Amino acid sequence: MEHNLPELRPGTLYLVATPIGNLEDITLRALRTLKQCDIVAAEDTRRTGQLLKHFGISKPQLSYFRFNEARRSEEIIERLGRGERIALVSDAGSPGISDPGERVVKQAIAAGFRVESVPGPSALVAALTASGLPAMEFHFIGFLPHKPGQRRKSLERLGTFTGTLVLYESPYRVEKLLLELKEVFPERQVVLARELTKKFEEFMRGSPAELLEQVKKRSLKGEFVVLIAGAAEGARA
Ligand code: SAM
Repeated sequence: MEHNLPELRPGTLYLVATPIGNLEDITLRALRTLKQCDIVAAEDTRRTGQLLKHFGISKPQLSYFRFNEARRSEEIIERLGRGERIALVSDAGSPGISDPGERVVKQAIAAGFRVESVPGPSALVAALTASGLPAMEFHFIGFLPHKPGQRRKSLERLGTFTGTLVLYESPYRVEKLLLELKEVFPERQVVLARELTKKFEEFMRGSPAELLEQVKKRSLKGEFVVLIAGAAEGARA
């Protein structure tokens, strides 16, 4: 274990994970990186502003989100070239996981800059490890496409995969997803991981049909990770 870490290095891009709900989940290293960096590149500067304020950090920000990624990546590369130490954060969790980040990381590496991960929360890991489904082998899908035909095809393509399948889904489409899972994977064990690290965190487990019943009875709000037992698990445990 290293305790006396060096100061941040000039010309480095730091990918800083932030809490997915519970602010206690910020790491000491994330706080130090946010304090010591020259600028924070944030998916939503207002939201990150609130996080920084909560931890008593005042730092200039640069917006970096899906629709300005290309332009902003260039600016970040220029700044790295001037020796700036840049912290990249998304709205929640790990940047680059179903969140912006990948493009600037690729460009920074191609341009010969150092990229460091400041690991921390991610809904993927939080959900998988507490789901009770095998974590030895898993396949992270992130969000399925929105178009019905494409969604169905994506699910069918995953049918032979032996590891646990992990999806992100919006609360508005969870019921729809369960209907699709009922068609494509009626026998599989499914876990809904809701509101992870927050006050109303819960794990719901069952077949797609059983979960559909539960979801219909309550109007479920919040954020969800949906996990599906892999083909090897086959019938429900
Ligand atoms: N980069 C993030 C990460 O590392 O987890 C994910 C960002 S993605 C845009 C947002 C999705 O992650 C949500 O729609 C939901 O599926 C999942 N998610 C994020 N926070 C969550 C939480 N507290 N509980 C359950 N799912 C969560």
